[in-house]
Amino acid sequence: PTSRDGPPTGVVPVGSGLVGSTELTGRVAIVTGGAIGIGRAIAEDLGRAGARVVVADRAGAGGAADELRAAGMSAIGIEVDVSSEAATRELAGEVVREFGGIDILVNNAGIFTTLRPGPLEEIDVAEWQRVMDVNVLGSYLCIRAVVGPMRDRGGGRIVNIASTTAFKGVANLLHYVASKGAVIAMTRASARELGEDNILVNAVAPGFTVSDGILDGGAELAGLRRAAPGKRVLAREQRPQDVVGAVRFLAGPMSSFITGQTVVVDGGAFFH
Ligand code: NAD
Repeated sequence: PTSRDGPPTGVVPVGSGLVGSTELTGRVAIVTGGAIGIGRAIAEDLGRAGARVVVADRAGAGGAADELRAAGMSAIGIEVDVSSEAATRELAGEVVREFGGIDILVNNAGIFTTLRPGPLEEIDVAEWQRVMDVNVLGSYLCIRAVVGPMRDRGGGRIVNIASTTAFKGVANLLHYVASKGAVIAMTRASARELGEDNILVNAVAPGFTVSDGILDGGAELAGLRRAAPGKRVLAREQRPQDVVGAVRFLAGPMSSFITGQTVVVDGGAFFH
């Protein structure tokens, strides 16, 4: 099949336009923060695997969905601020109306690239609050909004995007590191609560990844970008495309007995 033939019907060669498989055919997947960066790569990959993709972002969701459709995927875009309870509830309702249900949630929306790093005594309290609102509360609100529709489908998959910073305990970014630690803890606890509903909850923790937000960022991020490859067993830059395989695995049929786990995708930094 090519991108003109609609959803893929089998494994197709690289370079043929729509590379993927049928493993997620018919599944409805919400990717928060899916307009750019890691989320965008995830949205495209789930689309290639046959999922009907909902790009949920506070900006650029419609344009991203248009581009996915132009590439032959099934996609819609919904503008949403994940830190708003009402907005996340509306998101879930709209997806159910549009696509008939929800099978997969990828909690990727997060604040990272726009943060001002600094010693812990100097973190701006408003910025601390905003990070927690988006990265922690936002992930929770999206989980809460999709659990009902997933139960109606007999189960579902939730993949939370954490970060290796929570394991490494990196300096000068305490609010962000704490938020991602909370995401990992929330992954375990919600997996425990939702297992009886056949809703599997896992996390993926990327290392420093050259996303759109990083590319648009300032000198500090450029310095981190230069330093990152030298700290890895696989000594090259990490790209959004490096993250998608773990997400697809945790969203798909091959991981049906895995829940509560966090998969580290960092090219072998071994918590350097
Ligand atoms: P990015 O800045 O390139 O993209 C983030 C996307 O999230 C944007 O489209 C933005 O509009 C959206 N977003 C932000 N706040 C939102 C909100 N309140 N509601 C809805 N959408 C919102 O970021 P990225 O680097 O691709 O990061 C994506 C995720 O991966 C984040 O959770 C981040 O913490 C995590 N992560 C990134 C890295 C990295 O090095 N880039 C490493 C580990 C984890």
